[in-house]
Formats: sequence, C-alpha cells, structure tokens
Amino acid sequence: MRPEILFPLFAPVTVLPGVGPKVAAALEKLAGARVVDLLWHLPTGVVDRRPTASIRAARSGTVATLRVSINAHQPASGPRRPYRVRCSDASGFLDLVFFHGREDYLLRVLPVGNIRIVSGMVDDFADALQMTHPDYILAEDERDRLPAFEPIYPLSGGVSARALAKLAKAALARAPDLAEWLDPALRAQRQWPSWRAALEQTHNPDSSAAVLAVAPAHTRLAYDELLANQLALALIRAHSRRRGGRSTRSRGRLAGVALGALGFHLTDAQSRAIREVRADMAAPRRMLRLLQGDVGSGKTVVALVAMLDAVESGRQAALMAPTEVLVRQHLATIQPLAAAAGVEVAILTGRDKGSARRSTLERAAEGTLPILIGTHALFQQAIAFKDLALAVIDEQHRFGVHQRLELADKGAATDVLVMTATPIPRTLVLTAYGDMDVSSLTEKPPGRRPIDTRVIRDERLNEVIAAVRRRLDDGAKVFWVCPLVEESAQVDLAAAERRFHHLRESFGEAVGLLHGRMKGEDKDAVMSAFATGSVHILVATTVIEVGIDVPDATLIIIERAESFGLAQLHQLRGRVGRNLRRASCILLYRGPLSETARARLSILRETEDGFRIAEEDVRLRGYGEVLGTRQSGMPTFRLADLAVHRELLDVARDDVRLIMARDPMLESERGQALRTLLYLFERDAAVPYLRSG
Ligand code: ADP
Ligand code: MG
Repeated sequence: MRPEILFPLFAPVTVLPGVGPKVAAALEKLAGARVVDLLWHLPTGVVDRRPTASIRAARSGTVATLRVSINAHQPASGPRRPYRVRCSDASGFLDLVFFHGREDYLLRVLPVGNIRIVSGMVDDFADALQMTHPDYILAEDERDRLPAFEPIYPLSGGVSARALAKLAKAALARAPDLAEWLDPALRAQRQWPSWRAALEQTHNPDSSAAVLAVAPAHTRLAYDELLANQLALALIRAHSRRRGGRSTRSRGRLAGVALGALGFHLTDAQSRAIREVRADMAAPRRMLRLLQGDVGSGKTVVALVAMLDAVESGRQAALMAPTEVLVRQHLATIQPLAAAAGVEVAILTGRDKGSARRSTLERAAEGTLPILIGTHALFQQAIAFKDLALAVIDEQHRFGVHQRLELADKGAATDVLVMTATPIPRTLVLTAYGDMDVSSLTEKPPGRRPIDTRVIRDERLNEVIAAVRRRLDDGAKVFWVCPLVEESAQVDLAAAERRFHHLRESFGEAVGLLHGRMKGEDKDAVMSAFATGSVHILVATTVIEVGIDVPDATLIIIERAESFGLAQLHQLRGRVGRNLRRASCILLYRGPLSETARARLSILRETEDGFRIAEEDVRLRGYGEVLGTRQSGMPTFRLADLAVHRELLDVARDDVRLIMARDPMLESERGQALRTLLYLFERDAAVPYLRSG
C-alpha cells in the first residue's frame, strides 16, 4: 500500500486550482493524469528575463526586458493593421505592437508619460525596435512579479505555457518533505540537494544551466529514478534467491539424442551458451539467465537442451511464449526433436478447451507431462506442476518482470531462462533485468546468405509488385508487412485490409491476410495455408514479428519502414533468409525522409548484426526514443536520460548492492525511506516480498 505521505502527489490533476475536465484531458496527454506527473514534467529551457541595458542593447530575435517611457498611442489605421504604442529610452525607440488591441485597455495599462517595464521577443522593424504582444507589462513597483528566469515546459495543445507553469507551481506546493533515501556520503560528494529542493530548483531555475539534464538538481532526480529501478530489480532477484534453488543434474543423454536428430552441428556460441546454462542448472541456486541472440541465431536448440536435461533429471520444464502463433511454432520445432528422445510435449493456449485441456492440466499436475509450451495467459492461471525444474520464457520484450516471476513461482525452485531476440545494449539489459546473467549468441548458424536489403520510396510500388511477381514465378513466398500506425489497432487493420484487397487485384487467391484481431483458428488457417498451401503472399500487421518460420519465404516487404524501430525492422527482416535461397527485404518509405531516418534505414542495408543495429539505433535516436517505443517492453524513465545519465546507472547498481548487503529487508531508517522511493516511482511490485520474507 502506498504510504499516506504520497497521497497528495498521486491525486488526480483536477485537485489543482483551475483544472477542469478539459484541462485535465490535455494534461493527461501531455504529462499524465496525476499531480506527480506534473512534477516529473520538467522544464527543458528558460526565458532569460533579466533587465536588458537599453533599447539599443537589445538584440533582434531575442527576449528583451526593457524599462521604457510611453510616448504615444497610434490606434490601428485599418482592420488588419496593428495598434502601436511608441516608447523610448535614452538610447532609442521601441514600438509595442498589438493586433486587435483594445484602445481603452491599452491606454489604461500603458498610460502616456509613464514608465513601464515590458518583456517579450523583439525584432528590428524599419526605424525602431518592435515588440509584438509583450509577455509582461508592469509598472515599476510591480517589478518583482517578473522572474529573472522563467521555465519553459514541453507543451502540446490545450494548455498554455503560462497555465502549465502555474500548475507546476501548484503541484510543487503539494510535494511533501520526504525522508532522505540517498546515501549521505554520495549526496555530499555530488553536492545534491534534498529531493524537495531538487524539485524546487528544477521548476524554478535560476539560470539557463539549471534546466540542463546535467544540473545537480535534475541529476539527483534522475538518480532517484534509476535507484528505484535498480532496487526493485534487486529485491525481486533476492526474493527469488531466498527461496533457494535445487541442483538439476543430468548426463545429457536425452539432449544428446535430440541433438543427434538435428542434422547440423551446434555453433560455438550455442555450445558456449549450453555450457553456461548447464552450469547454472547444476548449481544449487536458482538460475536467472538471459539468452540473447539475433533472429535465427538458434536459441530454441539451447532451450531444448536445457528442457531435456530437466526432464532427464525426473522433473518438468515449461516454455512460455507471447502469442499462440509462436506457441505452435515452438511446438513444431521442438516436438520432433523431443520425440526422437522419447519425450512428450504438449501445448496449452487460451484456445484449448474442454477435456483435452483438462487432461493436459491434470498431467502437468501429476508430473506425467514432461514438457509444456503455452501462452502467458495460461501460466497466470491455475496451472500447477508436480515439479517444475525449468521455466523458459521466450519473451521478445513483451513480458514484465512480474510475469516472469509468476511462471517461476509455479515451481518450488524453478530455474529461469529468458530468451530475447532483440539484442539489447548492455545498459538496457541492466535497466530491464538488473544484474542478470547473460549468454549471447553472437554468431549465426553457417551457410546463411546475406539478405539483400533495399530502401525504396513508396511511389515505386509498381516495381515492387513486379518483383513480387518474379518471386512467385520462382515458387517462393512473400511477406508483406503493413505498418503500425500510431496507437490505433483499428487504423493498422484498415491499412492492412486495403493492401490485401489491392494485392488481390493482381494476385487473386494467392494473397492471405493475418492480423492481431483475428480469431486463433483463423490465424492458424492462414498461417498453415502460407506455410504449405495456397497462400503465397501473406499480408500481415506486425503480428508476424514474433516468430513465424516459413523457410520458403524469400522476400519481405515492409511498408512505411520509417515508422518502425530499427530493432523491429531487423526482427521482421529475419523472417526471410532462413534457408539457402537468396532472400531480399524491401523497405518502403513515404518520403521525404529526414537525415536521421535515412541514416537509420541505411544501417539495415549495411549490416545484419543485431547487436550493432541495436547500438546504432540508440546512438541515432537516443535511449528515450528507443525505450519509449510502444512494444519495446523496456522500462521507460521520466527523469533519467540514459544518454546523459548513463554513469549514474552503475552508481545506482553499486549503491543497491550495498543496500542489499546491509539491509535487505529495508528495515533501517534509510530502508524505510527507500520503500517510499519505490512507491514514488511506482516500482513497488517487489515491496510485498519484504513482508513475506
Ligand atoms: P531463434 O529462435 O534464435 O530466432 P531458431 O532457434 O528458431 O532461432 O533457429 C533458426 C533456424 O536455424 C531454425 O530453423 C533452426 O533449426 C536452425 N538452426 C539452429 N541452430 C543451427 C545450427 N547450429 N546450424 C544450422 N542451423 C541451425
Ligand atoms: Mg525463436
């Protein structure tokens, strides 16, 4: 339960003065629906409103703050003409310019013969400097209403800059003083302010440097966020360690038989990963290992060996995949190999009902079913194993830490192997998994030919269709991927359906359609028609990203490639080139492209090394962008920018190691404060474990 002291921050923004439903909706889009979201919405710039020496000293195109005397009013000379107020100081003239200015009002606020302080953007115009619609017009005795530096917040429609600045102040007023969770030595060394002071300083900058991400106040807030992230991961890991592990040993006989049935030799990288996994499983503690490797690098075999070892030791293994299609795909790969070793494999998805489902559940519980493959929905529910030794999670970034734990909790001392197909830069591994052990398949199985990748503007669609026809004439199959448009599955679908009908005009019944909202059976029917039957062109939304293996597919076309993340494009491209035939990928874009977009797409033309692609994507777009993409499944940070605060992540990790060594249940005074920190950043999923021990 969230501590009471944080309640004011987690209240809806409507508790702030002047926020009705309309403003609240705009704020929700911009920053979030709660007061705390406004606190996390940090200024990205400042307006310098310190006094400018004189009119002559003011530079055109900048904000000037001038002390002037009002000389004369010049009402508008026509309907579209501005109202001008001529002012001056000893150095020259300044015209204040108002469109649709109301004379009575202007005469009142700018009385002729008086002194005023005006602040706003100035431009050179004819013989005088001019300021159109000043931001501030103040009498001399109101001078202190003008801040020396005014924060600038990222904006979107529906809230004005002024209103947002005011709301940020109101949000700040609700921020409590919280007990310090930072290590005093670290705080002193870095000269960081307290949490509350850090917020104050960031929202009330006293210089243009104060809003930079490297400013001490901002750095502290970023550190807090990273600390919460690392602490939560460490608590989860400690919890899983505390429950102890068991040593799973086998002579590798079953795995040996299955490997013999493979028809190829393991790559060195696969052999190394298998050795690492086996060592973990044999050790008496719980395995928590990430197996990362590019699409097609052969992760399944590694998982299979581990599963068969578990079975040989008399226990069970489970594999969890994000979609039904992928579950079936795993079954197709694993079943024949397991069968060669005499080991039974069953699947269970949301679709399996009735007696077959009951029987699978029963046999899992009795222990007579050695290997079960299923979707995540399944493992959440009341499925029980007699003795689950190993949980393999093929997650492709779609599962959270929480869901991984749920599966691990199905067994008394279950080892966990997480497989991910998107190579992740080391930094991101740390933020997403904490100190997890990692095996990397850095090498592809031999004999793969490079995928010929081209970047083509979508105006040349006819040429692309001609290329598709040539492939079909060669007896090959074609994936046609339609883009993920914004946040709307509906729009995605419409685009895919349009393309489907369009291609049907040229290719008739050979075109099939697959999308995320189809019923399971319909998906299977289309997939199997594509794999073995009458469908030769599969138009799909990005559902195919996860998994599908159709060796005859040699061409993939991706529409609006510029709207995808690089890693995602790389994943999609990996759907072809799975056999020895020449494979191609056409990235269609809608022009014109920005420099960055062009650079990104050309990386795909240059390399098929997923690790390099991931690093380059981060370099070009920044961590925020790469992390922030929908479906990345990676934690996103509100205050920390890993491009800037990368170093803090290591500091936070070390900090957390010490905390876990000294006060693993967070019972000390600092421990209590750290609990609050977890709630503050909503990383409190692990807090209940602190009670159960
Ligand atoms: P991943 O899950 O890592 O994307 P898979 O495990 O599905 O990759 O393997 C991709 C393809 O490569 C499969 O058809 C698999 O049979 C094959 N494969 C795996 N390891 C090897 C190897 N060492 N040599 C040749 N082919 C392999
Ligand atoms: Mg796979």
